[in-house]
Amino acid sequence: MAPIIDFENFPGNIVNNEFLPTSTTRHSINPSTGEPLYEVPVATKDDLDASVVHAQVAFKTWSRTSFAERSALLLKFADAIEANRREIERLDTLESGKTISLSGVELTMTIAWLRTFATMEIKDELLDENDERTIYSTFPPIGVCAAIVPWNWPVLLGLGKVGPALITGNCIIVKPSPYTPYCDLKLGEIGMSIFPPGVFQVLSGNDDLGPWITEHPSIGMVSFTGSIPTGKRVATSCAKTLKRYVLELGGNDAAIICDDVEIDKCLPKITQLSFLHSGQICMDVKRLYIHEKIYEQFRDAMVDYVRKNLQTGNPLEEGTFIGPVQNGIQFELVKDMYAQIEKQGWKAALEGKVRETSKGFFVEPAIIDNPPEDSRIVTEEPFGPIVPLLKWSAEDDVIERANALETGLGASVWSKDLGRAERLARQLSAGSVWINSHFDTAPNVPFGGHKQSGAGMEWGVEGLKHYTNSRSLWVWKKVFE
Ligand code: NAD
Repeated sequence: MAPIIDFENFPGNIVNNEFLPTSTTRHSINPSTGEPLYEVPVATKDDLDASVVHAQVAFKTWSRTSFAERSALLLKFADAIEANRREIERLDTLESGKTISLSGVELTMTIAWLRTFATMEIKDELLDENDERTIYSTFPPIGVCAAIVPWNWPVLLGLGKVGPALITGNCIIVKPSPYTPYCDLKLGEIGMSIFPPGVFQVLSGNDDLGPWITEHPSIGMVSFTGSIPTGKRVATSCAKTLKRYVLELGGNDAAIICDDVEIDKCLPKITQLSFLHSGQICMDVKRLYIHEKIYEQFRDAMVDYVRKNLQTGNPLEEGTFIGPVQNGIQFELVKDMYAQIEKQGWKAALEGKVRETSKGFFVEPAIIDNPPEDSRIVTEEPFGPIVPLLKWSAEDDVIERANALETGLGASVWSKDLGRAERLARQLSAGSVWINSHFDTAPNVPFGGHKQSGAGMEWGVEGLKHYTNSRSLWVWKKVFE
């Protein structure tokens, strides 16, 4: 039977399958209302040390369980999440500000991801064999891993690390963002009745918890998702103990739209993927390169589409597409980007608006009409509902511009001519490149970034192998004297 969870009380961190209360607590803010949400624990360094010891003890037996046993528990966990999904979706919207329908998408993906990870056995690979010896690659788990999670997608990005770590035989400690601790704590609570003690733990804390984790000598691997500057700090800190790490960092994805597209068919998808979660997703479309032959027509249709379909408002209400920006600091950054429209003299095809009188962090979408290529709206990841439209005519030029930045998370090409689209796609430096789509991900497909958008890949066999060591096993068939 699925565990019964109280979604309004957070009695402690999830340590060794028990609630570990802390002497101080804190709360996050509901970005739609500015009101405080529930009190949550604040982990101390001792709490982290204790969790690591529990994980080390648990690893001794968990790492020896069979794939079938681990798979069965992961499936049970997915079922228990599914049984509680409506409450988790609501909590996700309350803390992250994403619309309730998008929270539904996040939960659907998470459950599917866990069920797929449960089928992904990393088997030995036969490298060479002759009469005298056999050589394999084998993939033992690392030990105690940690997941450091951002605020924009706390459920999928948290469990997208937990699933691979557990199925490969590791124990994991999850650290949610202080802005969004709630769903991850409840997911840990659901896991308490499923996994053995110490296998899956969740610590909510303050800004010092992340650095304690990356410095901890007994944590063997950190999977981090967040911004590029923090990713660099994580890598520097992990280097002190030569910890393994995977970094999933910021993006500034280009979509290249060719002159042969049927605008009415591709425009809704491109526009929605530009403003999904109010522009606060790493692989939202953030720069639209539109062929000059269709530029004006596309621009006008996009403005019309946003006005008619992408309403800003309460994310709990069906029909809202643009919820609030998630937190006060991000709100100030987005406001500053909107202020640049006038300061820099950018032409706005859609002006957008900051809702100054609301207690929540609401901003209406803006579309900037062909700004200079070196303007901030093109070169920076705004993480708000504001995108630039840019004109192109020559293929070589648009590829150079799309590849010009330090980021390389995702990119897309839109064209009826698949040969042309693939020729362009293969020149794009990004971890995921889509033709006539953007944003697609799957649990069995590696996801990550080129250049400063990341290091290593998450998901897929490649992603799961990051939670293992590579061990070459040489088996000589005779004992030589
Ligand atoms: P952030 O870098 O501020 O924080 C991410 C996490 O790191 C949080 O849990 C935070 O508490 C923790 N942290 C902060 N300082 C730390 C330190 N010194 N050591 C260890 N941990 C530390 O990022 P954010 O603002 O939460 O998320 C937004 C960013 O994440 C955007 O740039 C976005 O593009 C990126 N992102 C990337 C992906 C991806 O898969 N590539 C997915 C989602 C978000």
